[in-house]
Amino acid sequence: MSSIFTKIINGEIPCYKIAEDENFFAFLDINPNAKGHTLCVPKKEIDKLFDLEDDLYIGLMQFSKKIAAALEKTIPCDRIGMTVIGLEVPHAHVHLIPLNEMGEMTFRHKVSLTKEEFETLVKNIQANL
Ligand code: 5GP
Repeated sequence: MSSIFTKIINGEIPCYKIAEDENFFAFLDINPNAKGHTLCVPKKEIDKLFDLEDDLYIGLMQFSKKIAAALEKTIPCDRIGMTVIGLEVPHAHVHLIPLNEMGEMTFRHKVSLTKEEFETLVKNIQANL
């Protein structure tokens, strides 16, 4: 069965998409630690980050770097944090989290955003890509 992220990438489940290219896809996390929390995902469905072949792994880092730069331009923050967990969704992904304090790197720190806020974030981040 396809992962929830494969369904998002294929358009079977909606998301707030930031960007995609041939191999990678970025979208806003639906339950963000902070405003602008974004997931960068390889389109190829592989569970664990360190099981990606080198080209795909390096490509994901390069793609994430571009998205992080746009996030940092868009969201008032001290820096962009990056983490990899994967305990919930077994499809490799990088979390990019605009940070002002350490607590935002913990997955107990959550913010709730309206549909309009998600949509505005997408527009503003895309304008800085
Ligand atoms: P992890 O697998 O790294 O532990 O966490 C998966 C992340 O994916 C969580 O931060 C969760 O909020 C996010 N997530 C899970 N399901 C969906 C979904 O259907 N849409 C979006 N946009 N994010 C999701």
